Amino acid sequence: MIGKLYINGQSITRDKKFPVKNPFTQNDIGQYSFATAEDVESAINSASVALESFKSTLPLERSKLLTKIYEIVLRDREEYAQLITLEQGKSIHEARSEVDYALSFLQWFAEEAKRVYGEVIPSTKPNQHQYSIYKPIGVVAIITPWNFPLAMLVRKVAPLLAAGCCAVIKPSEETPFTAEKFIHACKEAGVKDGVLNLVVGDANAIGDILCSSKSIKMLTFTGSTRVGKILMAKCASTVKRVCLELGGNAPFIVFDDCDINLAVNSLVASKLRSGGQSCICANKILVQNGIFEEFKELLISKLAPLRVGNGADESIHLGPLINRAAKRRLDSLLKDALDGGSELLFDGTTEITDSETVLGFKVLKVKNLSCKVVNEEIFGPIIPLVPFNDEKEALSIANNTDYGLAAYIFSNSLQLINHATKHLEYGMIGINDVAISNPFTPFGGVKESGLGREGGRHGILEFLEEQFISLNY
Ligand code: ADP
Repeated sequence: MIGKLYINGQSITRDKKFPVKNPFTQNDIGQYSFATAEDVESAINSASVALESFKSTLPLERSKLLTKIYEIVLRDREEYAQLITLEQGKSIHEARSEVDYALSFLQWFAEEAKRVYGEVIPSTKPNQHQYSIYKPIGVVAIITPWNFPLAMLVRKVAPLLAAGCCAVIKPSEETPFTAEKFIHACKEAGVKDGVLNLVVGDANAIGDILCSSKSIKMLTFTGSTRVGKILMAKCASTVKRVCLELGGNAPFIVFDDCDINLAVNSLVASKLRSGGQSCICANKILVQNGIFEEFKELLISKLAPLRVGNGADESIHLGPLINRAAKRRLDSLLKDALDGGSELLFDGTTEITDSETVLGFKVLKVKNLSCKVVNEEIFGPIIPLVPFNDEKEALSIANNTDYGLAAYIFSNSLQLINHATKHLEYGMIGINDVAISNPFTPFGGVKESGLGREGGRHGILEFLEEQFISLNY
């Protein structure tokens, strides 16, 4: 496969290319064209020109456009799933769920396009009429990660098109082919030339150009907190709006009185989602002492039969990590935990022993709260269990982080749930539930997990500017 840039409705090949690998085999699946600085500038100009007409299209027109894109992606659902597994590695079952999740955002924002209401504000003097309206913010830079190559992109493009904005998109260099396919679905649906542009290459250099451009009014980014901070600082020079969906360190708090089957099944589901490589993945598993042993046994019994390997194989539950660097990082997290006295309770074997990217599930009993698996975002199938005595201790461990994206509580006590929810410093809380992300609801974090919300009625507002009008008549 040869990947192409997409600028002003044209697919462009460049001589300079970079390889895209299959995370499981580590073989190249294709070569992708490497954008020059001129390509990025040209993409910005195309988006600026296209904005002049796209911003004035009728909401109903944009709604129909999104519905058409939805139909095309639905038609090609299996092709997308296969492509996601090929370049991202996740199990084909997870890839299919990702496509369905992405589809749900196209459907949702096709409706929200028609529901952008302004506000009529009471007058303060005779003959005065005060009101505010929403206008598209303009050209937006979109930078997306590799863990959900389709969904993270669609979660931004759907509200962007609904709002009447144009974009320059930079997907992850690990997974650009899925983004390219989606761009072509948008073209097929009738998205006009220049409205969406795609560039890939030197992430840092592209980021510099996008963040310093006066033509770009907003950056929406999903990725690590480290890169989010760099981009936010770069955007300061032009006072861009930033919407940042950054890292997490989700506490998963299991109280003695919970439905233990539900808690264990939910934990396994959370860790299987993109192989634990998701920002809302359960990270530090706090288990109350009264059920610790039972929880541990049940968890191990559920993990033992799961198969780890090539995500393209229908019988596989857990695919490889994204690349060798990720595997080395997880190996070092594991070593750090074991050196710190943690006990390895379960070592999920893999049938592929020599792979540089495959890692089976590892369940740890943590002895030392300063170890990295408790304090860093794991992004993989390591499951550190941390025993606790009471609610106060659990909440203190849960909040002891700079992250604040998602937290989970498993309990049947309303009083406990209410109290814990009030004290948890997180943007999203799942109570007896880990499937917390859907297009109806606001997704986003507090603290260093980000700014802004995606999804829900809030998601489209990120792409709109409020304009206040005072009319004396
Ligand atoms: P992850 O750990 O999920 O790969 P990153 O934050 O490293 O998260 O990457 C998310 C996205 O940010 C990717 O598209 C990547 O290419 C891009 N990126 C990484 N570094 C920079 C940078 N300095 N400037 C702009 N984009 C960057």
